[in-house]
Amino acid sequence: MSKKWNLIVDVERCDNCRNCFLATKDEHIGNDFPGYAAPQPEKEHSWVDIKQTERGHYPIVEANFMPVMCNHCDDAPCMKVAKDGAITKRDDGIVIIDPEKSKGQKEIVDACPYGAVYWNEEKQIPQAWIFDAHLLDTGWTKPRVEQSCPTDVFRSLKIDDSEMQRIKEGEGLVVLQPELESKPRVYYKNLHLMTTCFVSGSVIGDVDGIEECTEAAVVVLKAEWQ
Ligand code: SF4
Ligand code: SF4
Repeated sequence: MSKKWNLIVDVERCDNCRNCFLATKDEHIGNDFPGYAAPQPEKEHSWVDIKQTERGHYPIVEANFMPVMCNHCDDAPCMKVAKDGAITKRDDGIVIIDPEKSKGQKEIVDACPYGAVYWNEEKQIPQAWIFDAHLLDTGWTKPRVEQSCPTDVFRSLKIDDSEMQRIKEGEGLVVLQPELESKPRVYYKNLHLMTTCFVSGSVIGDVDGIEECTEAAVVVLKAEWQ
């Protein structure tokens, strides 16, 4: 079985420095990579987009961040609407929107359920993060998002799908919107930090007329559904 690219994103490690976002812009603004991607417009495109959630209330608040980009889906919804071979799935798993053949196909933007495709108004083409395929094809061992991230959020792996499944199960990785069955090749670790509730508090008691923190209190959390 041929080895394919995957990307693991650890949400817990992202601190919103936006280096990955800037590195992608640095790579693509003003640079044309024929067969891979036309230049990215200077504004309004976030091929690597940093999503943010805030959980809790003052004084206990937690902010978390998560980069979202093209998932290079194996059963890609964008490919189902693309005409004239505008989108191809490479043998190494990377999905490429052809900058010439996709001209005028705005429906590709709407077909991506992850909001990962941006419309280039000037060139009239859809564009997305290409996993730095143009660099990997010249010998790079990792994409620039991984190279530029100071906190090791990203881990790109070119491995067999069976090995990736073992890693997924072993590390508890998940994909975005699994119910779509689009089979993303971008996996998230600690995604619960973005998607679940944050419950926190303190337990105090009256000790000889003084409010004290209660040690070793057992707290039971119950939800009532109406
Ligand atoms: S994330 Fe969107 S653009 Fe990328 S392969 Fe999947 S459907 Fe296509
Ligand atoms: S470079 Fe790393 S830490 Fe900074 S925003 Fe991107 S993923 Fe997060």
